[in-house]
Amino acid sequence: MKILPTVELLVAEARKAAAEGKSIGLVPTMGALHSGHISLVDRARKENDVVFVSIFVNPTQFNNPDDLRTYPRTEEQDCNMLERAGVDFVFMPAVDEVYAEPDNRQFDLGPVAEVMEGAMRPGHFNGVAQIVSKLFAWTLPTRAYFGEKDFQQIAVIRRMADIEKFNIDIVSCPIIREADGLALSSRNVRLDEASRAVAPNIRARLLDSLRLREEGLAPRELASRTADAINDTLGLEVEYFEIADALTLQPIENWEDCGPLGAVGCATVYCGGVRLIDNIIYN
Ligand code: AMP
Repeated sequence: MKILPTVELLVAEARKAAAEGKSIGLVPTMGALHSGHISLVDRARKENDVVFVSIFVNPTQFNNPDDLRTYPRTEEQDCNMLERAGVDFVFMPAVDEVYAEPDNRQFDLGPVAEVMEGAMRPGHFNGVAQIVSKLFAWTLPTRAYFGEKDFQQIAVIRRMADIEKFNIDIVSCPIIREADGLALSSRNVRLDEASRAVAPNIRARLLDSLRLREEGLAPRELASRTADAINDTLGLEVEYFEIADALTLQPIENWEDCGPLGAVGCATVYCGGVRLIDNIIYN
């Protein structure tokens, strides 16, 4: 496994692989890797000749300076995990390498980026589009892998790839969870013991909501009952829980209003000061 600290080296290795007719899989990450990330890497490994992983805590997507400052960084452990997973190249640049010049680009991401995370975290998705568009342009992967934990992010990236006319297969991968249901996240290490113990209730209440769906509750009613149920758990505080069309991410009034992907319920919940996200699909 080769570590690439510069854009020049990344571009050189990617073009070399492409010239040899190899398919390229790219897995963008911010490090502090866990089995969720490795599931993306494993899939990329299966489907491509060469696998690139990027580790870069992208400052332009953080709307909260404290979150950026305290974001966990475990580079040595990350590299060991990636080596074991059979990765070929790890792009690990310094901030100045990626933003040699300040990036003031504003993407026209449209309605998918305006709701939920887009509404709560101003500038977040534009920052995601900035970094992922750069990684795409430098690596020109055949396929790029993203986790459904960040459900809305995938829709935003598809939109960005569309605008930029990238011919890249965007592959979405299922959420990997702890045995008790908590979605794996780099931020979980910030949970203290008490918070870690209550956090799985988020998933449990989302699963309960499947039953409410079967009982015929309308989306708005189901959303408010589920948010109330989460808030009833001491230590959990819902920022939002919205039911949206799984393709357009726009809120729905009736289940019948959904497109081919059905509906998704997206939750953001504060747990002991840590902002956790999770989601569930209603077919
Ligand atoms: P991050 O390092 O948090 O930016 O995540 C990098 C990629 O890993 C994103 O595409 C995430 O959606 C994905 N990811 C994070 N956590 C999980 C998880 N629990 N299961 C599956 N994919 C995940």
